[in-house]
Amino acid sequence: MTSVAEHIIKIKSELPDGVNLVAVSKYHPIEQLKEAYTAGQRLFGESHAQELVVKAPQMPDDVQWHFIGHLQRNKVRAIMPIVSLIHSVDSIRLLDTIEKEAKRIGKVADVLLQLHVAKEEAKSGFTIDELLLLARNGEFKKYENVRFRGLMAMATFTDDESIIKAEFASVGETFRTLRNENTLPTDTFTEISMGMSHDWHLAVAEGATLVRIGTEIFGERQY
Ligand SMILES: *Cc1c(COP(=O)(O)O)cnc(C)c1O
Repeated sequence: MTSVAEHIIKIKSELPDGVNLVAVSKYHPIEQLKEAYTAGQRLFGESHAQELVVKAPQMPDDVQWHFIGHLQRNKVRAIMPIVSLIHSVDSIRLLDTIEKEAKRIGKVADVLLQLHVAKEEAKSGFTIDELLLLARNGEFKKYENVRFRGLMAMATFTDDESIIKAEFASVGETFRTLRNENTLPTDTFTEISMGMSHDWHLAVAEGATLVRIGTEIFGERQY
């Protein structure tokens, strides 16, 4: 067995039922993705449109591609036919573009709304207050070709687990508030995407349903 396969099997054995692994394959060569596929992995995450467009045709058709990185509006058209879930919706303007491009090809786009809970300014996403306000104003009810599937977030990059835990807990709390208030269609608003190689155990403890793991599976990225 290759080490990629071993890492995947180990992580999956530690994930509780109902938590799915997104293998984050950005900057890793296609051979490694194929090893992951052979080990049974079907869900892959990429964060650059151009890389996704090149890799997707090289993998079997039953792979599901998730887009997890910051998405520029002018890249939405290229990825729309390929992706099954966009994790990183961080503005209304991006949502409007996703709606338009999904409609154009007769698709309903599944998306997660990205929350900004980390201390780093560079990370994108709605603040919790912004998102609750938009939802309460009915902003997310007007999209016909977008299906809101849940929330995504990244925690602060720190060794201080109490900070990470508090940030993930605030995502879980916001998720439950949105579901309780019924400001989004709750039957399909079921996912919380959080947790990376260094913090996914904490994310799972706070209710993650999707963990996005790259380095722990594939090793260091090859830039
Ligand atoms: C790269 C990336 C990951 C994976 O990070 P690792 O530390 O390699 O596990 C997860 N989420 C997002 C949004 C990423 O860009």
